[in-house]
Amino acid sequence: MKVQTTVLLGTAVSALVAVQALAQDIPSEVTLFKDVNIFDGKNDALLEGYDVLVVRNLIQQIAEDIPVSGTYELEVSTGALERVETLPGSGVNGYSITIRDADGVETQTQQVAVNVIAGGGRTLMPGLIDAHYHLMLAASQGDSWRLEQPDYTHATMVVEANNLLQRGFTSIRDTAGPGFGIKKAVDEGMIPGPRMYLSGTLITQTSGHADRTLPFEEPRIFSGRAPVGEEVMKLDRVVNGRDEVLAATRQNLKQGATQIKIAIGGGVYSLYDPLDVTEFTEDEIRAAVDAASDWGTYVTAHVYTPKGVLRGIRNGLKTIEHGQLMDEEAAREMAERGVYLITQPFEAEENLRALANDIQWAKYLQVVEGWQRTADLVKQYDIKMGFGTDLVFAPDTNGQQADFLARFGKWFSNIEMLRMITSTNAEILALSGPRNPYQEGPLGVIEEGAYADIILVDGNPLEDVSILGSNGANIPLVMKDGRIFKNTMN
Ligand SMILES: [Zn+2]
Repeated sequence: MKVQTTVLLGTAVSALVAVQALAQDIPSEVTLFKDVNIFDGKNDALLEGYDVLVVRNLIQQIAEDIPVSGTYELEVSTGALERVETLPGSGVNGYSITIRDADGVETQTQQVAVNVIAGGGRTLMPGLIDAHYHLMLAASQGDSWRLEQPDYTHATMVVEANNLLQRGFTSIRDTAGPGFGIKKAVDEGMIPGPRMYLSGTLITQTSGHADRTLPFEEPRIFSGRAPVGEEVMKLDRVVNGRDEVLAATRQNLKQGATQIKIAIGGGVYSLYDPLDVTEFTEDEIRAAVDAASDWGTYVTAHVYTPKGVLRGIRNGLKTIEHGQLMDEEAAREMAERGVYLITQPFEAEENLRALANDIQWAKYLQVVEGWQRTADLVKQYDIKMGFGTDLVFAPDTNGQQADFLARFGKWFSNIEMLRMITSTNAEILALSGPRNPYQEGPLGVIEEGAYADIILVDGNPLEDVSILGSNGANIPLVMKDGRIFKNTMN
């Protein structure tokens, strides 16, 4: 039975409508950003001098001059709002909410504090999103993830989760590795971290990009054991044939994977596969796509070559990771099929040279050379492009995460790059459909009803995207899900 209620409250109204204004749903505090210039994740013009009101975990209102206090009457059934009086005791930031029953009798009144954040003309924009990250490998120094105790590695992941937030990343798409327990703890508010869209284990074939057995070890399918990355750390899984691919895909979905990642071509750091090889047959790729689509979600793949890209997208992949060696045919077909590309602007950096043997380094240099051609093709064929860094093995350099964006500056305008790291990446996250764990509102945009994943930026990233880098030095405030995790403005 629903009772017609009338509510008196401040401007924080619509979210309360949505929950029928039950007393326990009235928050004790709301957040009001005053005097900010808004980049909404899509449009190339800033909304200058606006205010943004956050109620619970959603953006409630975007307007000029939202009052910091006041009393409003709300018709719950229609959402109609009328200002009826000013809040007594002026000088205190706050809203007053009263719930009345169908006869107009007051049942409860609650004061709601307003946490006013003086934006001072800073840019307010969506929290950053990295569409290709590996929480475990990014947190691990070299091979530490397979040399140390698992709980040590998990501890490094917890630290890295907080570091991501502190530099402005409020969502990551994790394209292989463990983290389901850490994600749960983050979502419960136990530890700080971004929203995580986890793939679970990277599914690979014997000899594939994620086959981490040693050269003298027999594979599991004969007489061997699963490698440590599979059996202990849940980083990848070596399978062959349709049935095993189905089982591996379903196991990841059972854990809570939001998308499935497979390796369908040679890798840089992997020991056995030259860059030019193609991995998994069409039937094996189809098996992953079948199992994922039965769960309403999709498959992405690690691959560099045109042959691999074409085999993947012709068998149902929705996104491609890397693609630095692709050609015109692959680019054209990606564009035609609306497949997203997440490529990385790798550079031949010293710290990475030290981590690679000569064969690995030679492969890496091909990819370093290739991404600029791929960027040409993305521009030429207008491929939808997300932003994902693939930072691994060197935690000290993870602060460069957003610096990678400016490396695309030769090909893309500032607004194009900003869309990649916000709204386009959010489109990629949304491909998870019913497996998307965060469905109360959109991500990657600043609009009424969107999740309150918000950063404040010193300066205007529409004029210079590089200010988003430097380990978040120009990002004094980070809010995720309506909660402030960083504020150095006080
Ligand atoms: Zn990766």
